[in-house]
Amino acid sequence: MTDQHTLLRLLPKVDESLLGLRSAVSAEIPDLVLKLAVRSVVDAERNRILAGDTSCRELSVDEWQVRFERAVVRMQGPNLKRVINGSGVVIHTNLGRSLLPPSAVTALGQAAGHYSNLEFNLETGKRGSRYSLVEEIVCDISGAEAALVVNNNAAAVLLVLETLAADKEVIVSRGQLVEIGGSFRIPDVMAKSGANMVEVGATNRTHLNDYEQAITDETSLLLKVHTSNFRIIGFTSEVPASDLVTLARQRGLAVMEDLGSGSLIDLSPYGLPKEPTVQEIVRAGVDVVTFSGDKLLGGPQAGIIVGRKKIIDRIKRNPLNRALRIDKFTLAALETILRSYYDFDTALREVPTLRLLVQTQDEIRRRARRLLRRLGGQLMGCCELGQQATMSRVGGGAMPEHGLPSWAVTLVPGSMTLAQLERGLRALDLPIVGRIENEALLLDMRTVLDQELAELAAGLVTVFGGDEGDSA
Ligand SMILES: *Cc1c(COP(=O)(O)O)cnc(C)c1O
Repeated sequence: MTDQHTLLRLLPKVDESLLGLRSAVSAEIPDLVLKLAVRSVVDAERNRILAGDTSCRELSVDEWQVRFERAVVRMQGPNLKRVINGSGVVIHTNLGRSLLPPSAVTALGQAAGHYSNLEFNLETGKRGSRYSLVEEIVCDISGAEAALVVNNNAAAVLLVLETLAADKEVIVSRGQLVEIGGSFRIPDVMAKSGANMVEVGATNRTHLNDYEQAITDETSLLLKVHTSNFRIIGFTSEVPASDLVTLARQRGLAVMEDLGSGSLIDLSPYGLPKEPTVQEIVRAGVDVVTFSGDKLLGGPQAGIIVGRKKIIDRIKRNPLNRALRIDKFTLAALETILRSYYDFDTALREVPTLRLLVQTQDEIRRRARRLLRRLGGQLMGCCELGQQATMSRVGGGAMPEHGLPSWAVTLVPGSMTLAQLERGLRALDLPIVGRIENEALLLDMRTVLDQELAELAAGLVTVFGGDEGDSA
């Protein structure tokens, strides 16, 4: 084995490597890209040598060249890539949460490539408001008096608190001081908004009189937060929104609810847990409600604020609103998604997030069978293929403890370890994300689209056929 010092000395010189690479690739590829590619390959190898990786060895000029060319190809591809989601998590925050239907993608493309009436009133010929384009639809569907849309739900919560409660007290239950996805914590957002948080109750139980006793002259808001990604079970008690509303009315305060996922449709007839819908919360009299655009709603990233007109008008006038506003692409996609909610059956059929959630196990099982049929004997000898019942997840912090009966294709590789298989699938041009469970790699077919079956099969064949190679 060659020693570390020799290996380091043998690393190619960037300038020399560049000459060879330049003559091997298209003249259209900029010099800078080649230089960065060479440098990244050499640096990566140096780091491996320094880390004592025993697989490092002396490489021939040709072997280096192959690595450089692969790096060039990699650098020319986009960093944001499509992936096939075989994880079974429908609203997968790391994989981009909700998928837009073709109609919304078209609307988004139109808004992107053309001028539009984004802030131009076509009737009067004068300046218009970008929010008015979706505000009416949100109100029609939610039953709220007024609405406002911002960049995401975290922004919505910050904006509402800053408007209604800066330098004032906000009363919130201890059981609802949640952290969502690492960087969004209710107490931190509260602090940033300038509101003073007053915690009441115990972690598992909070009662109406806990709120009542905490009210002072400084109180401006009673806040309720959907605990989204966790559940306290057992001896628990939460105060219903309607009771908070009654209390707030008596004391001249406002009630805010951060719904998180915020569904517009009751999904319990489809085997999902009963969650309060946005409409129900609005009907209960909550003054201002916030929820995400790309969780259960199934739209683009956005934060939707609905509530009483007097309050929404104040929020609209907050200068912070300008900093948190949504762009025209989001507006275009959001409008299309919201329109489908005028008829719930249409929404369930057309909004991909909803469609993926309400699929039956039989439908998913048929998709698994179609994948297996497509693969036929192609993986024979290198992998044992099978299928089994599994549970998928809603994701997006919604209904954390609820599994959805699903169906998976299973792979038990013979020629490599499960970890290698998982890595190989991620390294494909069209990466495939599965999960390892019980000594097999599972592809949960709930989140694989019908039109992706051919690509999925091809990816699996590539991984075992090795023609993609390890692009280390
Ligand atoms: C997800 C979530 C948020 C953050 O929403 P984003 O749209 O991701 O910014 C805030 N509050 C609750 C309760 C949530 O579930």
